Amino acid sequence: MELIKLIYVSTVSDAFSLSSVDEILVAAQRNNGEKGITGILYYNHKYFMQYLEGDKQEVELIYKRILEDNRHYNVLLLDKSALDERRFGCWSMAYLLQSEILKTLNFYFMDSPEFNPYRLDAQSANELITELRSHLPLAYLHSDALSKTYR
Ligand code: FAD
Repeated sequence: MELIKLIYVSTVSDAFSLSSVDEILVAAQRNNGEKGITGILYYNHKYFMQYLEGDKQEVELIYKRILEDNRHYNVLLLDKSALDERRFGCWSMAYLLQSEILKTLNFYFMDSPEFNPYRLDAQSANELITELRSHLPLAYLHSDALSKTYR
């Protein structure tokens, strides 16, 4: 397996509705689980940032499908590169909605109170993903999820 990571950002479109995040996560957790893809989706009502990791061929296939999704547009690829070890082995698709606590990260990474992921480059996007990982519920690390960890 050729392990890679891929990070992109995008803008929520008019086709996006209140139920869209749930639908996306249900589809992502089902499809990604089958294909051994793990990662995180970060969302703030206006923009998405998604980190995907897994076999190169599978990540490219899912990314192609995501690109065609009309619930977002202006998709900008920030990073696609080789990966030694997964960072989200327990999560077929972890999800974080921007909160007051996470807003403090905007100043650090985007020099602004607003989350605007188009201001990120590959390095800062990777650093922000690492920060977001530390905000995921630790309970996952001590649950049955571990038995489903992807390598
Ligand atoms: P289905 O089970 O057929 O559809 C799931 C639900 O989404 C249904 O309610 C369907 O009506 C609705 N839906 C599907 N496609 C669209 C569309 N283009 N426009 C409006 N509604 C639609 N998919 C993944 O598998 N993995 C991911 O990590 C992933 N991340 C995503 C991140 C973002 C920001 C977005 C916008 C989409 C993402 N998706 C992801 C969804 C992906 O674009 C496809 O919709 C999904 O993979 C289709 O899978 P399915 O055929 O099993 O879905």
